[in-house]
Amino acid sequence: MLIVGDGIIGLATAIAIARAGGSCRILGRITPGAASAASAGLLAPSIGNAEPGFRAFMSASRDRYPAWLRWLAERTGIEVTLDRSGIIELGPNEIASQRAGVERLDAAALEKLEPALTSHPGAALYRDDGYVDNVRLLDALREAARCEWSIDVVEGRVAAIQPGIDSCTATMEDGRTQHGRAVVLAAGAWIALLVGAPRPVPVEPVRGQMLRLQGAPLSHAVSTGDVYLVPRGESTLVGSTLERVGFDSSTTSAALDRLRLAAVAAVPSLRDAPVQGAWAGLRPMTPDARPIIGRDPDLPSVLYACGHGKNGILLAPLTGECVASLIAGSAPPVDITAFGIQRFG
Ligand SMILES: Cc1cc2nc3c(=O)[nH]c(=O)nc-3n(C[C@H](O)[C@H](O)[C@H](O)COP(=O)(O)OP(=O)(O)OC[C@H]3O[C@@H](n4cnc5c(N)ncnc54)[C@H](O)[C@@H]3O)c2cc1C
Repeated sequence: MLIVGDGIIGLATAIAIARAGGSCRILGRITPGAASAASAGLLAPSIGNAEPGFRAFMSASRDRYPAWLRWLAERTGIEVTLDRSGIIELGPNEIASQRAGVERLDAAALEKLEPALTSHPGAALYRDDGYVDNVRLLDALREAARCEWSIDVVEGRVAAIQPGIDSCTATMEDGRTQHGRAVVLAAGAWIALLVGAPRPVPVEPVRGQMLRLQGAPLSHAVSTGDVYLVPRGESTLVGSTLERVGFDSSTTSAALDRLRLAAVAAVPSLRDAPVQGAWAGLRPMTPDARPIIGRDPDLPSVLYACGHGKNGILLAPLTGECVASLIAGSAPPVDITAFGIQRFG
């Protein structure tokens, strides 16, 4: 089994395959703009307007996190911070208040919970959501892949694949070839550039810029509508932009200034906070903002695990499990028909 891509989706898939008793080879090289390390690590199925089936899938993946991280810690000794004290979304939101696990906060309750925020008439607290340290999580996943005898990691980029009915060859950019019974396409925002896929994969890069400010005045992740703020150790992550600029993963001072202004509007004590870092990543976005997970309908040796857009950290554990089930010939733990590539015609 070959896996093209070494981000969180490729790694989570490899580990799920190994846990199910299979073996695989990850082919990948980190490219500037790779999304997984650039992310804010929010586990936020409750935010946004996802339709109920997709929201249920996101919630199921979020709920796998505690056991997943425990398994990784036992395997690697790397403890990954997981916070599930809830995410606060500012603003009265009638639709949100009808969802499970949501608590309405009036101005007084909000001030008590997060005194550093400017006063606000109301907010929603999504009690079951939270955030994970995605950088440490990547370290743990890479270490788990390294330790697992049934996972082979080959450093390098794949130039093209030649899939057949029951096998696949991948040609690396340096000319080496790799063979497997099948191939999982998990190359993030770059997936559409891969030569030899059985059909066009409608995934495009959408840049997100992030800022890291010194100081951690909040105890919850907060979404203000303009930005989100996520505690990360002794600092606060501020994100993010949504920009269609191709594969350009540079930052711009205009966007970083806007992020900072919006952060200070929500948390005035961040006004003089030193900037500890700024970066950008490329989200792999599909036209309907849902991932592509499943086998190619015409060439069963090709499986898709891509297009996770704004939610790939959240969706990694369940995506891995679903792809591993398909490879093992068993039914995925949840219905993934809605994520098939055939929906794009
Ligand atoms: C600023 C920002 C904030 C975000 N915040 C959140 C968040 O809070 N919560 C959340 O759930 N998600 C968030 N996301 C989205 C999440 O980061 C992505 O959905 C997820 O990381 C996608 O993972 P991936 O493995 O598909 O892609 P990537 O992490 O981009 O990994 C793909 C890998 O494949 C490699 N590759 C590419 N082409 C080839 C090739 N031809 N051969 C071999 N290897 C190849 C790349 O170099 C890369 O290493 C955010 C994204 C951004 C940019």
